[in-house]
Amino acid sequence: MDQLRQGRLSARFNLITCLLLTLNTPWSMAESPQQPSANNYDYSDAHVHVVDFFQEGEPLPELIRAMDKGNIDHAMISGIPLMKKWHESEPKRPRYYAGDDAGMYWYSATDSYVAEAYRKLPKDQQARLHPFLCGFNPTDKNADKHLRQMLETYPDVWQGIGEVLTRHDDLTALTQDDTPRANNEAMYRVYRVAAEFGLPVLLHSNITSKRERNPLYISEIKDALAAHTDVNFIWAHAGTSATLHRYQDKLDFLLTELEKLLASHKNLYVDLSWTVLEPYLLNKDHKAVAGWVALVEQYPNQFMIGSDALGSYDKMAETLNEYAPFLDALSKETARKVARDNFLALLPPKPISDKLAHAHQDKD
Ligand SMILES: [Zn+2]
Repeated sequence: MDQLRQGRLSARFNLITCLLLTLNTPWSMAESPQQPSANNYDYSDAHVHVVDFFQEGEPLPELIRAMDKGNIDHAMISGIPLMKKWHESEPKRPRYYAGDDAGMYWYSATDSYVAEAYRKLPKDQQARLHPFLCGFNPTDKNADKHLRQMLETYPDVWQGIGEVLTRHDDLTALTQDDTPRANNEAMYRVYRVAAEFGLPVLLHSNITSKRERNPLYISEIKDALAAHTDVNFIWAHAGTSATLHRYQDKLDFLLTELEKLLASHKNLYVDLSWTVLEPYLLNKDHKAVAGWVALVEQYPNQFMIGSDALGSYDKMAETLNEYAPFLDALSKETARKVARDNFLALLPPKPISDKLAHAHQDKD
């Protein structure tokens, strides 16, 4: 998860300012920044949080309404595993996790909120949402116990694990515990649960730190992929974050590293959500970047897109439509897979309750 809304809002403000300035120039000089796509895509949103860092979010019927508006057939939904503290020493209630110096703590109740909200929906709406478990501390070797307990309590709900927040720049620095790694023992225990129940894992694991212009942390996700070939990993934002971009602009090594990882790990899937859109998939003129088009065509089943919505859904349709210039550059079949089908293909074919029934029989 990485939704530095304020940065994005200021980028939008700058865009509006640019457009207003453009109005004063002759039309012949004013180039439209983005041509509307001729294709209307149907989407799956592979990355949605139904609460923010204060565990607050709009109700799920609002999400369904936003999905209807944006041709979004399906969506992954999860909570947020961290809660921002309003610290005694802070005079104002913070509005975002980076709003003040107070820390964040691991918050398991987020999963119960998701399960209860999901269960209240009518069946036809439930069929379009795919809840993932995330409310555990990824450095705690008891994390797998929480997962098993939630699977037992809500067996008709869960379809995946994540977004797990391991290395995540400033967010990690504010978290009141050790730094989580994709390859620590607590996470290995989590992956064993994922393998047992056939659950995909959406994993946030930054490829590097804010300052290092090299793939400093890539071995962590590599280890996890190699040690758990029976688990399908979705690498959130392809290892990037808005904070990395703020410090480094663009990671020049990202495409090469991703090519190498995909060549050696069949269980790697890639979430292209918003921090990957620019400057990787699209250049500054909103044109698809050839190297990324080629990579996605080479691995047409491995990529998916998401909004990374954070408890509010009014921007979801717009966010997914921003991918249209990139999808237009792909073959029709690959575009359909990336926009919609690849995420759905990773979900368990049967409800968890079937597996639990078998597990109980084995014990008897
Ligand atoms: Zn996220």
